[in-house]
Amino acid sequence: MADTVFQKIIDREIDADIVYEDDHCLAFHDLNPQAPLHVLVIPKQPIPRLADATNNDGDLLGYLMLTARRVAADAGYADAFRLVVNNGEHAGQSVFHLHLHVLAGRAFGWPPG
Ligand code: 5GP
Repeated sequence: MADTVFQKIIDREIDADIVYEDDHCLAFHDLNPQAPLHVLVIPKQPIPRLADATNNDGDLLGYLMLTARRVAADAGYADAFRLVVNNGEHAGQSVFHLHLHVLAGRAFGWPPG
């Protein structure tokens, strides 16, 4: 299967505005931001969708959330941010490499659109 755009960002084949990286994950600004802060947190392990994660991925999934919290806090939004995971085409997923959207800096409606 062809590499996703996020795999190409991990491999430095495509540029991204990276805000955090370690052995397990990468965080970078979304190309089409939907809020003043809109960062994507992705695992380096290429899990296509949350639905494809296994029970063995629990530590990694938790780590992604802690990283998302860190990204929000580092940007000054420790107390008001939203995390979004779109799972599957019909839920709005367009890049099939698991990612958390970290959104902050404006009011968010509920229920989400
Ligand atoms: P999804 O719709 O799969 O939940 O989210 C994919 C996100 O990736 C979208 O918000 C889109 O703007 C972002 N995106 C797509 N291609 C690129 C890219 O090449 N670079 C960056 N930084 N973001 C991208």
